Amino acid sequence: MADCIFCKIAAGEIPSNKAYEDDKVLAFYDLDPQAPTHILVIPKEHIKSAAEIDETNSALIAHVFEVAAKLAKELGLDNGFRVVTNCGESAGQSVHHIHFHLLGGRDFTWPPG
Ligand code: 5GP
Ligand code: ZN
Repeated sequence: MADCIFCKIAAGEIPSNKAYEDDKVLAFYDLDPQAPTHILVIPKEHIKSAAEIDETNSALIAHVFEVAAKLAKELGLDNGFRVVTNCGESAGQSVHHIHFHLLGGRDFTWPPG
């Protein structure tokens, strides 16, 4: 996707502070952290949002969650953490390349705002 900022980050065309990378997934620190640990985990392939998860890409999304769990362990988020994906306008999705916020290092309220 030519105009997608996260495709550019995945391709290394825009720099990011990386937490994990393999051939399919990249994790990098959010520019505007909402918790002491705030990492975005993305598939390198362009998928617009959680509304586009289907049988053709669900294994890739499962891999994203494996990476999130591995990072949470490595970063010592033993007290708990949150994985969030905002999907669509009402949820406040601002970048239209699916991403999972891995948030930790503080307590979170429920329900979310
Ligand atoms: P959303 O609002 O779509 O759920 O989340 C988008 C997230 O991407 C926001 O938390 C925002 O701070 C982060 N973000 C937007 N542009 C960049 C960027 O260029 N680099 C990094 N590291 N984070 C970004
Ligand atoms: Zn993209």
